[in-house]
Amino acid sequence: MREGESVDVRAVRNGKGLVALRPFARGELIGEIRGAIVTSDEVWSYWKRNRTIAQNCFRFDADRYLNPAGELGTFANHSCAPNAGVFKVRGRLSFRAITAIGAECEITHDYSTLLGADDIWTMRCDCGEASCRGSVQSFHTLSTALLRRYTRLGVIPSFILATRARSEAKRSS
Ligand SMILES: [Zn+2]
Repeated sequence: MREGESVDVRAVRNGKGLVALRPFARGELIGEIRGAIVTSDEVWSYWKRNRTIAQNCFRFDADRYLNPAGELGTFANHSCAPNAGVFKVRGRLSFRAITAIGAECEITHDYSTLLGADDIWTMRCDCGEASCRGSVQSFHTLSTALLRRYTRLGVIPSFILATRARSEAKRSS
C-alpha cells in the first residue's frame, strides 16, 4: 500500500490503525502489503530486540515472514470480526475487503488467519467486538464454524493451512 492512496494511518481504538479513505466493496483489493521478506530466525532476533517489530510481521510462507518495516502494513490491527483479509497472489500479500467497508472505517484482519499451527505467538485481544475471542492464537484453534467461514472466504492462505498437517506429522513421529 502506498501513502496517499485509499488508506491512511490514523488514531483508532487501540493506538494507530489503517483507515479507509473511501468505501470498498466486498472482495475489492485494498492494497499490497509491502515490506522485506525475512527468515524466521530474523523474526526471532526481533523478539529479543523489539517485540513490536516481531509482532508486526506477516507470515509469508513455510519459513519466511514479511516485515512491513514502517510501511502501512505495520499499522494493520487485528479484529475478531474483521472486514478485510490477507491474500497471497503470485508471491505478493495484499489486503482485500471481505465485507463492504465504509469510508472512515478502520480496516482490520484476523491475525489468527496468518498464524500457523507451528507459530507459538499469542495475543490478548481487546477488539471490542461482540464475538471477541479474548485471545488471538493459531488458526487451528478457531471454532469449526469460523474456520469454515474463513476457508470459504479464502482468507487462510494455503501455506498456513499446510502447517496443521506438518505439525501433526511432527507430533506423531
Ligand atoms: Zn477480539
